[in-house]
Amino acid sequence: MQRTALTARRRERELDELAAEPVDLLVVGGGVTGVGVALDAAARGLSVALVEAHDLAWGTSRWSSKLAHGGLRYLATGDVGVARESARERHVLMTRTAPHLVRALPQVLPLTSGVGPRQGITAGIGFGLGDLLRRDAGTSSDVLPGPRLARPGEAARLVPAVAREHLHGAWVAHDGQLVDDARLVVALARTAAGRGAKILTRVRATDLRADGATLQDTLTGTTLTARARVVVNATGVWAGTVDPSVRLRPSRGTHVVVPAARLGSPAGALMVPVPGSGSRFVFALPAQLGRVIIGLTDEEAPGPVPDVPVPTPSEIDFLLATVSRVLDRPLLPDDVVGAFAGLRPLVDRAGPDDGAGPGSADLSRRHLVEVSPSTGAVNVLGGKLTTYRSMAEDAVDLAVKHAGLTAGPCWTTNLPLVGAQPPVETPSLVEPVETRAQALAPALVARYGAESEQVLATAALPGAASAVGQGIAGTGHLDVTRAEVEWAVTHEGALDADDVLDRRTRIGLVPADRAAVRGVVEELVGDALARL
Ligand SMILES: Cc1cc2nc3c(=O)[nH]c(=O)nc-3n(C[C@H](O)[C@H](O)[C@H](O)COP(=O)(O)OP(=O)(O)OC[C@H]3O[C@@H](n4cnc5c(N)ncnc54)[C@H](O)[C@@H]3O)c2cc1C
Repeated sequence: MQRTALTARRRERELDELAAEPVDLLVVGGGVTGVGVALDAAARGLSVALVEAHDLAWGTSRWSSKLAHGGLRYLATGDVGVARESARERHVLMTRTAPHLVRALPQVLPLTSGVGPRQGITAGIGFGLGDLLRRDAGTSSDVLPGPRLARPGEAARLVPAVAREHLHGAWVAHDGQLVDDARLVVALARTAAGRGAKILTRVRATDLRADGATLQDTLTGTTLTARARVVVNATGVWAGTVDPSVRLRPSRGTHVVVPAARLGSPAGALMVPVPGSGSRFVFALPAQLGRVIIGLTDEEAPGPVPDVPVPTPSEIDFLLATVSRVLDRPLLPDDVVGAFAGLRPLVDRAGPDDGAGPGSADLSRRHLVEVSPSTGAVNVLGGKLTTYRSMAEDAVDLAVKHAGLTAGPCWTTNLPLVGAQPPVETPSLVEPVETRAQALAPALVARYGAESEQVLATAALPGAASAVGQGIAGTGHLDVTRAEVEWAVTHEGALDADDVLDRRTRIGLVPADRAAVRGVVEELVGDALARL
């Protein structure tokens, strides 16, 4: 069994070990931040356990726009430091740690009657500044081409549904796009497990202290005490539920899913400025499984934090109306085959809530790393998916110092995740992932990189390479193989069909697709669990 393989059996064994033996560092929360911390700490030689109340990537980390972005939007709010950090981390992801999961995505901003001339000029200046960040980060134009003005024909080739009438041309600018956000989280968790970290899902921390936590195994109801020399709280928007000193101002972002065919199966993303804004855009992003996801909004979401946030009808209407301004045929509510929302864990630095703080669209995306005055744990909050690695580095630096641990320096910029090629110096070396696996379906390679062949080869159940079922709802592209379902159970810690449908694969983003294949997936998961 691979050291990086997460399974139900390993979970059971390591949970027993955690009850018996203290660890150096306990991480609470299995989103991108928590697994990033677990990997950073394990790579420095610390003994690590991570507990996640539900499943890996249960929270905000599966509801993102799936962009490894270079910080353009933070320039607009004057956050140059955040923008530079984003561009640097995008570079690390695309060239060293996860080149197999992140691709260069052309983004098309059509210059048409639906986009004001000032918005076109402002966007052009923004792209130029974003390109300076790319160069500053050392990302070559082979990896991410610079921005340029394109002719109408090229814009229409990249996004066929764009209205040709009054189309003068378009800005085309590239950014990084993840094949899937939850897949990045699982890859990080497995890489951490390969370095000895215990990754324990369905384990809720109910009481956080400086030297451990009370834990509940939600599968059995059993309670145990974990002892650690330091605890890191990476519970995102739920941080306030385990630490009363934390003050967050969650902001909801919503996306809708439409069949890619409805927009002419675009190769590029469409960017449409929000009316009246020079820095906010609605994106229509081509995604795996024959879909386009359209987002996003930025609405303050005060009050209790739900397990799964729900988009509102007005947010959905706003997204459809904004994108339709530049399309030849407007999108209608009937075109929507799925919708999802996520809550950004924005840190409220404004002092006591007097209601006079900035709107959530303006709150800084800077992350916060500090020792909690109330629990004594290290809180790591805010930030974003793209910058998980530097957040983890800061959190582990502080944890090591705070607890007086002996640990090596951080080296995660040079630590490839499972499925990545070995560290690469030049972008051309990124190519072999695809070249080597030419015979494999491109979709499989996009999801598993160098492990693609192994996913098929290690499957024990019959019909490994065949699809789990037909995509309905007009997508027609449900190219998830039966082998991937088995791999999710034998290597990626999936404990039931929901884990597979909603996080290891993203079939569940379209409820009709989910319902169509649920029976088959349940059967495959049952068989794979029985063979462990
Ligand atoms: C709509 C939207 C779009 C976004 N798009 C992008 C993007 O394109 N690119 C980008 O870089 N960033 C993006 N972001 C930001 C990014 O998604 C988040 O910053 C990031 O995912 C937060 O990760 P996290 O690990 O801190 O939190 P989460 O992913 O929410 O993880 C926290 C975890 O803690 C667990 N937990 C909670 N309480 C407990 C407990 N008591 N015990 C154990 N576990 C517990 C939860 O189950 C959850 O899994 C977007 C955010 C939103 C909302």
